[in-house]
Amino acid sequence: MEICRTKSDIRTAVKQWRAAGESVGLVPTMGFLHEGHLTLVRAAKEACDRVIVTIFVNPTQFGEAADLDAYPRDEARDFALLEAEGVDAVFCPSVDEMYPADTQTTVVTERLEKMLMGELRPGHFKGVCTVVTKLFNIAQADRAFFGEKDYQQLLVIKTMVRDLDIPIEITGVPTVREVDGLAMSSRNVRLTPDDRKAALILNKALAFADYEVSDGRTASELEEAVRAFIAKEPRAQIESVDVRDAATLEEVTGQITAPVVILLAARFGDVLLIDQRVADPT
Ligand code: AMP
Repeated sequence: MEICRTKSDIRTAVKQWRAAGESVGLVPTMGFLHEGHLTLVRAAKEACDRVIVTIFVNPTQFGEAADLDAYPRDEARDFALLEAEGVDAVFCPSVDEMYPADTQTTVVTERLEKMLMGELRPGHFKGVCTVVTKLFNIAQADRAFFGEKDYQQLLVIKTMVRDLDIPIEITGVPTVREVDGLAMSSRNVRLTPDDRKAALILNKALAFADYEVSDGRTASELEEAVRAFIAKEPRAQIESVDVRDAATLEEVTGQITAPVVILLAARFGDVLLIDQRVADPT
């Protein structure tokens, strides 16, 4: 497995593969890998001849410096896991390599950028779109793989690729969970044992919402019911509960008649967790 810290190193590797007619898959991550990430890697291996995993904790998508500083990192462990999966190259650039002085250009999906998580964290999706565009341009991959867990992010990236005619195919991969249902996340290691138990309320709330969606409710009624459900867990500080059109993330008025996505964000201690589920009322 090649470990590339510079753009020119990864470009050299990709150039050789492409010259040999091999297809290239890309899995962007922020490291501290778990089974969720490795599931994306396996999907990429299945679909492409060569697989690149990027590890870059992107400062421009973090609102709070404290959150960025607290983000867990373990490069040696990540490399061992990726080697065992048969990954061809890891691209792990420094912040300076990605953002040289006088970097000025950004990428924004106007409408999606301001919704939901984008409203709570202004600039977050601008940071994501900009870094992902740079990774696409650096890696020149045929396909890229993203988790449905970050549902709005997946939609933002698909929209950006469509709007800017970026020649890459985006594949979404279903959320991978711990056996007890907690969505896997690099942030889970920061939960105290009590908060780790309390966090199970998120997946339970999604199961509850999935059951209730077929009951002729409106989106706002369902949001209220899910909020009340999560509020039964005193350790959960709800940040947002949204029921939106699964295809567009637009608000749903009247009774729910088409698939919706239920998007949850809640803090346990100082750890912000998100989870999602698509529910079909029919
Ligand atoms: P991150 O390192 O958190 O930026 O995640 C890198 C990629 O892995 C993103 O596309 C995430 O959506 C995806 N991912 C993170 N957690 C999971 C999970 N539990 N199941 C599936 N994909 C995930």
